[in-house]
Amino acid sequence: MTETLHIIGGGMAGSEAAWQAAQAGVPVVLHEMRPEVGTFAHQTGNLAEMVCSNSFRSDDDEQNAVGLLHWEMRAAGGLIMEMADRHALPAGSALAVDRDPFAEDVTARLKAHPNVTVEYGEITELPTEGHWIIATGPLTSGSLAQSILKETGEESLAFFDAIAPIVYADTIDMEKAWFQSRYDKGETEEERKAYLNCPMSKEDYEGFIDALLAAEKTEFKPGETAGYFDGCLPIEVMAERGRETLRFGPMKPIGLTNPHQPDVKPYAVVQLRRDNALGTLFNIVGFQTKMKYGAQKEVLRRIPGLEKAEFARLGGIHRNTFINSPTLLDDQMRLKSRPNLRFAGQITGVEGYVESAAMGLLAGRLAAAEILGKPLASPPQDTAMGALVRHITGGADAKTFQPMNVNFGLFRPVDGLKGGRRGRKDRYKAYTDRAKAAWQQWLDAA
Ligand SMILES: Cc1cc2nc3c(=O)[nH]c(=O)nc-3n(C[C@H](O)[C@H](O)[C@H](O)COP(=O)(O)OP(=O)(O)OC[C@H]3O[C@@H](n4cnc5c(N)ncnc54)[C@H](O)[C@@H]3O)c2cc1C
Repeated sequence: MTETLHIIGGGMAGSEAAWQAAQAGVPVVLHEMRPEVGTFAHQTGNLAEMVCSNSFRSDDDEQNAVGLLHWEMRAAGGLIMEMADRHALPAGSALAVDRDPFAEDVTARLKAHPNVTVEYGEITELPTEGHWIIATGPLTSGSLAQSILKETGEESLAFFDAIAPIVYADTIDMEKAWFQSRYDKGETEEERKAYLNCPMSKEDYEGFIDALLAAEKTEFKPGETAGYFDGCLPIEVMAERGRETLRFGPMKPIGLTNPHQPDVKPYAVVQLRRDNALGTLFNIVGFQTKMKYGAQKEVLRRIPGLEKAEFARLGGIHRNTFINSPTLLDDQMRLKSRPNLRFAGQITGVEGYVESAAMGLLAGRLAAAEILGKPLASPPQDTAMGALVRHITGGADAKTFQPMNVNFGLFRPVDGLKGGRRGRKDRYKAYTDRAKAAWQQWLDAA
């Protein structure tokens, strides 16, 4: 008899994982705590509830990485995409979804599947026996989170994300910015040039602080947090504490010489650090923020060198339980210390409905293949799935790991194509063509 796959959490990831494994012929038990135990964000007892916006973002599979992820999930017979398409609302090139009928239909389809049993109730401990996928999401219940923490250690489980904005490297103006670590610290040339510096004059700084103080901010939802935690105060909170606070914190101008203007001492410096092994993404160091997205772009583009910056993701601080996947998971999404447990969805450090469902799809297929005795290789790096899973299980810097959306900065460059803004359309088309071929090949080989 085929062994059973247990999945904890019937959200975006757990529902898709259950569908994929069940379709492969594996019996699945899906454990969902709602409606018995609720969260501050969920409103119903339905599986795959969308807790906030009703958007799956861009549906453009030629020019957008999230649209490409839609395409890959559709090609893999994904339940979440099928139901999203069935309940799509008019939204231009985006995919907006009629949330209640969508979630009701996902629930009905899973309950009607002969290989799926839905069991309601909270799972409070990491299981010791059998095949499991943990897909309990950003609002994983407290007791299960404690049990995960016992297994992974305090350092490797976060209860908030404090995301600094991430910039595409090729949109930074290198006529103004330069590579240098403070005091040229580091054993190797690479370490001595680990940071990209954007210099500010006194005028730039004062204007930046004014804009920061005036910018529109998002508030925490009731019950979302008991306050900020030390060491990752939002930049606007630092600025409210005093106009000079940032200049003595993340923007201190010491230990640096601007090669573009060696005689001018910068009044303040914004530093960026490489965010992925490919070197295509840079995060703005210490710049976690709760500014609204529109205001955030405006304020950040005041930084000399970032006037034309494009953002792979903007900053934010949210209640979000997630593990340090780069250190904890293997490329099959298994917990290295207990390989009978897989993780999927937002708890792995991806962010968003689509990315979470995608990681569920992958975990469901990988687990089913293992149970059926026909293990599957992780998908190729050049697919959206492969780029994302590689980022969280190895490509990202484990020390600064924060949740990530899918974006083209995670993709390996295609040789011979123009960089920068001008070449973008051709580059993105080349990424998506390459990804589709590789994904189809992976599906055919399964
Ligand atoms: C306040 C808030 C707003 C958000 N807004 C957006 C947005 O607008 N757009 C977007 O793309 N993403 C948004 N997100 C992120 C979004 O929640 C995720 O992208 C997506 O839902 C994650 O999918 P998931 O399957 O990993 O987790 P979820 O969809 O949250 O599913 C996890 C499931 O596990 C269950 N569960 C938890 N603990 C246990 C347990 N111990 N035993 C059994 N069941 C358990 C939960 O009840 C839940 O059903 C938001 C998140 C939050 C918290």
